[in-house]
Amino acid sequence: MTKQRILIWYRNDLRVHDLLALDEAVAQGADIIPVYCFDDLLFGETSFGFPKTGSYRAQFLIESVADLRSSLQKLGSNLVVRRGLPEEVIPTLAEQLKVDRVSFSKEVTSEEKRVEKKLKKALSAKNIKTATYWEATLYLPEDLPFGIKQVPELYTNFRKQVEKKSEINQAIPAPKKLPPLPEIEIGDIPTVAELGLEAAEIDNRAVLQFKGGESEAIKRLENYFRQEDCLRNYKETRNGMLGANYSSKFSPWLALGCISPRYINDKVIEYEAKRVKNNSTYWLIFELIWRDFFRFIVAKHGNEVFKAGGMQGFDIPWKQDWKRFDLWREGKTGYPLIDANMRELAATGFMSNRGRQNVASFLTKNLGIDWRMGAEWFESLLIDYDVCSNWGNWNYTAGVGNDARGFRYFNIPKQTKDYDPKGKYIKHWLPELESLPGD
Ligand SMILES: Cc1cc2nc3c(=O)[nH]c(=O)nc-3n(C[C@H](O)[C@H](O)[C@H](O)COP(=O)(O)OP(=O)(O)OC[C@H]3O[C@@H](n4cnc5c(N)ncnc54)[C@H](O)[C@@H]3O)c2cc1C
Repeated sequence: MTKQRILIWYRNDLRVHDLLALDEAVAQGADIIPVYCFDDLLFGETSFGFPKTGSYRAQFLIESVADLRSSLQKLGSNLVVRRGLPEEVIPTLAEQLKVDRVSFSKEVTSEEKRVEKKLKKALSAKNIKTATYWEATLYLPEDLPFGIKQVPELYTNFRKQVEKKSEINQAIPAPKKLPPLPEIEIGDIPTVAELGLEAAEIDNRAVLQFKGGESEAIKRLENYFRQEDCLRNYKETRNGMLGANYSSKFSPWLALGCISPRYINDKVIEYEAKRVKNNSTYWLIFELIWRDFFRFIVAKHGNEVFKAGGMQGFDIPWKQDWKRFDLWREGKTGYPLIDANMRELAATGFMSNRGRQNVASFLTKNLGIDWRMGAEWFESLLIDYDVCSNWGNWNYTAGVGNDARGFRYFNIPKQTKDYDPKGKYIKHWLPELESLPGD
């Protein structure tokens, strides 16, 4: 049998460990050509006119791609880098390199699926096969106890069923060696400026100076689990807002696939065997199952998640009040907890889960503003932007998604008292504030 030549089109799976597409290509003894394409579509504008990918995430993406290139080089291969529309770039490259197959991971939302469809069409016209993989979640779709169309609407029902009836696979180790690339121009990795964005440095008050890439992700995990030994207290600290270790901060790396959730699961099991097994060690997996839930529920509902009525199709008269929206996004509402969080987001590209819930509830429930404006603002700024987690959570918080508790809202003064009783977080981001709430 002649040797197969496989092009692996990297998307939000920027790693060498636990990658089914890579593992399968290695097992077949194929020639492998890893490619990343900086997609022009991701550097356009959102529907409300924000940069679709802001500077913080662009920088993190660049670092992640550079790290992937370096890992592939260490294994004897390399990463081909291009810019343009993947549905045009990849088929051209595949034809030029006479590949037999293009492998890539499947996404679940409309823009990404549109790209996949066009890509498959262009490749099929050139008689090149495609193979798709599911790389992003703890549980694989084929291991779920229900089909995508039957995914339970409520998280608890989803979780209980998967925990009872499904298994999480172990992560696949990274390959030990890869075949060298054929003769090809490997291409430069663009800078933030070349992507049309102004370089932005993460403010030094940030929870973490996030750096993209698989090696940084693994370093962060080692630090959080092993050196700092934080996992044992995760459940008690996870609602914090200040500092590197109240929560794992894995989200930016998970979003770009620099780390696999199954790898994290393996490391939690290892930690439980070596150190301690308690509610906190379980709770990290509980949160990763939330992530799975949003991916599967978004796959079920398709485009509904991007519409004003959300997954439930509720008819709510949202306002597009730009004046108030601007006060919200600039952190000038006069509510210190909201303002501190919105300033943190603008200055760093990150915000805690507690903060996100509060600012999203405030925008939608207190101000009655179209939640999609908030979702797009988050999309633009978040380093950890993940289409399913972001839009799924916004549906949920705006009351148009799958919250078992109905149309609830956060009482901001009470939240401040509960989660920032001494005003340390607020002071950190609003040092000019003379008196703190409750003074
Ligand atoms: C309005 C809103 C928008 C959000 N947008 C995003 C987004 O774009 N990208 C994103 O990754 N998360 C998003 N989240 C979820 C959550 O806030 C972040 O995942 C979390 O704050 C990241 O910090 P961490 O990695 O330290 O989390 P940890 O508490 O350490 O949790 C571990 C991991 O579990 C997953 N996780 C935790 N909570 C959630 C959740 N509610 N939904 C989905 N996954 C979860 C994440 O992958 C996270 O990295 C959003 C939440 C809200 C309320």
